[in-house]
Amino acid sequence: MNLAKRVKTLSPSSTLAITAKAKELKQQGHDVIGLGAGEPDFNTPQYILDAATEAMNEGKTKYTPSGGVPELKKAIAKKFAEDNQLHYTADQIVVTTGAKHALYTLFQVLLDEGEEVIVPTPYWVSYPEQVKLAGGTPIFVTAREENQFKLTPQELEAAITKKTKAVVINSPSNPTGMMYSKEELQALGEVCLKHDVLIVSDEIYEKLIYTGDEHVSIAQLSNALYQQTVIINGVSKSHAMTGWRIGYAAGPKEIIKAMTNLASHSTSNPTSVAQYAALAAYEQGGELSEMKKVFAERLELLYDLLLDIPGVTCIKPKGAFYLFPNVKEAATKCGFSSVDDFVAALLEEEKVAVVPGSGFGSNDNIRLSYATSTEALQEAAKRIKDFVIKHQ
Ligand code: PLP
Repeated sequence: MNLAKRVKTLSPSSTLAITAKAKELKQQGHDVIGLGAGEPDFNTPQYILDAATEAMNEGKTKYTPSGGVPELKKAIAKKFAEDNQLHYTADQIVVTTGAKHALYTLFQVLLDEGEEVIVPTPYWVSYPEQVKLAGGTPIFVTAREENQFKLTPQELEAAITKKTKAVVINSPSNPTGMMYSKEELQALGEVCLKHDVLIVSDEIYEKLIYTGDEHVSIAQLSNALYQQTVIINGVSKSHAMTGWRIGYAAGPKEIIKAMTNLASHSTSNPTSVAQYAALAAYEQGGELSEMKKVFAERLELLYDLLLDIPGVTCIKPKGAFYLFPNVKEAATKCGFSSVDDFVAALLEEEKVAVVPGSGFGSNDNIRLSYATSTEALQEAAKRIKDFVIKHQ
């Protein structure tokens, strides 16, 4: 079968590839430690499960409006008002099948063939592929490690052309865990306003910040930026609800209406029961403070253990649940010509699965997720250290 051009250029997810290889080794009886996970290792809280059960028993199992049930949209609007001092009406919010599908739908309604979206590197794996699937062109701009993997306004401006439609800002970031300050966002926002570039602000890790830093949404900074921004968020990471697939977008009415229309012909609606579960997440409880506390402890632990490995440097993340150490020196000293080879050998010899930075556009780094037990993290760090020492 001759498949469509658009899928022929689609890159498979590097995160999933390493997970599959780790699984295969595990099935062969090997003691594999996986640090590839992109989801909390916590269960969805009981009160959310109860709300879903109740919704099912009440017969809330039918089609819903394409953009989400009114109660959930109202709860999302309340969340924006309380957490971000942002005011959205129901027709400025669309509930989607996970934040991933909010982004997918957004690029579909925004982009015509050849239009450009600026994607700062390192990036979350799906941004470039989604832009390409919509006929757009991802323009990669390196956010330098020396600048904590954050894009400067000059770097952003230099990448803007007549074809630029949007820029993606992800703070806190996957894979780096870095956050932009209010001043940095303000400066980036000014460039976007000057050149009329839409801001896609992916705030999915908003609730997972371990420093005293406060999450700031770029849309909060002025009325002009509010009108220039589409916020993407969801309950997957904040409430340990990855499998429920509830995310949302909020922004200008015209964009949200187009996204809702597109959803009506693709998903019809996000799963009805999952919408009521998300409603309970927002109405009945805050974020998972216990989960956040545990993540904060693990971050400290793994960060210190990593710095103890020869040839490894790491910028300390502020949020999300990943570390993105630079292992170039360690890999070179061990005789590997690339970090990809280092990662493959690490899995083969020490049975530790990490994601190579190349999948995120950064060839010198690896991504480690600490959404796994403390014991596993300690053992993984020990094995990585042994591996590096053995090869040097
Ligand atoms: N954005 C970023 C930066 C992510 O890391 C993820 C999930 O890994 C998503 C969006 C998608 O989240 P969801 O599970 O709600 O689709």
